[in-house]
Formats: sequence, C-alpha cells, structure tokens
Amino acid sequence: MSFPKIIIDEKKFLHNIKVAQEICAEKGIEVLAVTKGFCGNRRMAELFAKGGIKFFGDSRLDNFEVYKDIKGHKQLLRLPQLDEIPRLVELCDSSLNSELETIKAISDYCLANNKTHEVIVMVDLGDRREGFLPEDTVEACGKIINEMKGVKLIGLGCNFGCYGGRIPSDEAMKIFADLNNEVQTKYNVKFSHISGGNSLSLHLVWENRMPKEVNILRMSFAMIFGTEDKYRKTIRNMHRDTFQCQAKVIEVKRKSSMPIGEPGLDAFGNIPTFEDIGDIDRVICAIGKIDTMFDAMIPLDKDMEILGGSSDHMIINVNKCKKQYKVGDIITFDLDWGSLLYLFNSSYVEKEFINKID
Ligand SMILES: *Cc1c(COP(=O)(O)O)cnc(C)c1O
Repeated sequence: MSFPKIIIDEKKFLHNIKVAQEICAEKGIEVLAVTKGFCGNRRMAELFAKGGIKFFGDSRLDNFEVYKDIKGHKQLLRLPQLDEIPRLVELCDSSLNSELETIKAISDYCLANNKTHEVIVMVDLGDRREGFLPEDTVEACGKIINEMKGVKLIGLGCNFGCYGGRIPSDEAMKIFADLNNEVQTKYNVKFSHISGGNSLSLHLVWENRMPKEVNILRMSFAMIFGTEDKYRKTIRNMHRDTFQCQAKVIEVKRKSSMPIGEPGLDAFGNIPTFEDIGDIDRVICAIGKIDTMFDAMIPLDKDMEILGGSSDHMIINVNKCKKQYKVGDIITFDLDWGSLLYLFNSSYVEKEFINKID
C-alpha cells in the first residue's frame, strides 16, 4: 500500500448512513445522498446503495457516469450548463434549477426528443448562492408549469451554509413551506419532492423544527463526518473518524523556526510570515498542497502543529510532541470537507477501504 492515502472505514460509514436515515425517517424525510465529495469514486456510491440510499445527488455529470448502473433517482445539484442538457437528461432524473432560460432549454430538448426531466426550483432564503428570490418564485413556477411542458416541476428546494455560512431560521423555513403550498394551490399541482436543505439543516429535523412539508434532505457532510456545522458536535452515536489520511515522514530535523535570508515570495506567490521561537524539532511529510488542504487536516497527535509546506511537502512542528518521530513513521489525520475533496480528487493519493462489507 502506498502513501499518502485516504482510509475509508466501510462499517463506520454504513453506520453513519443508517443513523442519518433513522433521524430523517422519523419525520417522513428521505435522505438524498450527495456523492460530489468523492470525485467519482464508484465504491462510495456503492456504499450509499448498500446503506439503502435511493436518491443520489452530485454536482458534476462525469461523476454520475461512473455509477450510472446503480439504481436510484439521480439529481444534478449544480445548476445545469446549457450545453450539458443532453447528457443531463440522459444521466439524471432531476436537477436543481434557478434560471427560466435553462429550464426552457431543458423542456425544449425533452419535447424534441420525446423525453422528460424533473425540475426542482431553488429558492434563495439568504445564503446568497443559487435560487430565485422568494418574491419571484411563485411567478417563475407558474411559467414552468404552464409554458414548459417538457419538464415536470416536482418541488422547491433551499440550501444553507455553503456560501454565506447562514444557518436556517424558523422564519426562513416558514417562507419556504408557504411558497411550496402557494405554488401547489395556485397552479393546482402536487409536489412530490420538497427539498429542505443540506447537512446544516439536519438539526432542524431532530429539534422538530423542520416544516412538515419537507420530505427530502440532501446530505453528505453529516454522514461523512458524523457531525454538522451548527453545533460541530458528534451526532447521536455517529463516527467522526470514518475518513482519515495517512502520510509518511521523510525528514526529521531540528532547525530554526525562522528561515534565513532576504524574505521573498513562497511557491504560491504569497509572503509567508514566521514567528521566531528559536530552534524547533520538525518533520516533513510526503504530502503536499496538490493533495490536500492543509487547514482542513487535523493530526491525531494533538501536540503537532502544521506549519505549512509546498506542492509536495507538509512541514509539521513536533517540538511539543511526546513521541520521538523518525523517518518512515506514519502520521494520521482526521479530515474536514476541504481535505476530503482534495484527497479524493488527487490521483497521487491511494484510496484504501477497510472493514469491508460485501
Ligand atoms: C453539496 C451540496 C449539498 C450537500 O451538502 P452537505 O453540507 O455536504 O450535506 C446539498 N445540496 C446542494 C445543492 C449542494 O451543492
């Protein structure tokens, strides 16, 4: 087995998937499992399927291609690009949308090719990423229902946290529920898919604050890390350490904390700053910024401090560590969203599945 690697504990992941589904099922909500963080890793989609997942979401069509034979409803989460509509209709049952021009183009394509596609209209309730503003939503839905017969509007969706870092409020969720009801009443349609948010909305479910209209939650973070961004606590008995990274030590030396010489730019064009704390014990690990996001790496040895690095090197201050590190040692890290994305996406990082289930 080569290093660096990301290690995926299949049993723990299955457990997290089950707990998320149980929390949601109590309130009549189905989990739509989001695969985008796994960058087209087929095994991860298989594990969701083994966990009983029936709805899958990803932001990129290439990733759906990898697991197109796995049964279930497939939903494109990122707003479709006009020139990917034929592939969208081929690979996905539905997509999240916020532009009438795009929805019209999907509808026209479907009508011309005798196909159908389901549409979820996104509402921006304050996070300021995608979505119609609430005041524009009802009219837009009317246009889709009355004028775009190649698509079927199956519900509204909302999203929090991803861009603006906003936490869903009861007021925002009431606006969302009211909009869903208004559209259904006004245009005499029945929604089957009311998509009430992502992992950051999961706490609303167990706090009994999720509107009863919501029947879908799109989720990855909570199942991957067994935690969510509101409380940053481990959820029920979920596992926080389902995904870990390991890298090997390739240098162990004591050096001055302050580089020597005239200050210039680092490899990425930034001017690095240093605190002069004298000589320190440090190690270099064989993993770099091409493979992972350093800020989102959490060494299990709590006395370690990641100082920085370059494309292919990570430098760690081990001055306070009780363990004496040597060349060849393996350093283990817990992960966060940013590091998970990079690690799955890096072809230099081995993906190792442990505690395998069949
Ligand atoms: C990424 C994404 C999700 C999943 O978010 P998590 O916080 O990982 O649960 C849900 N919905 C949309 C639209 C997304 O882009």
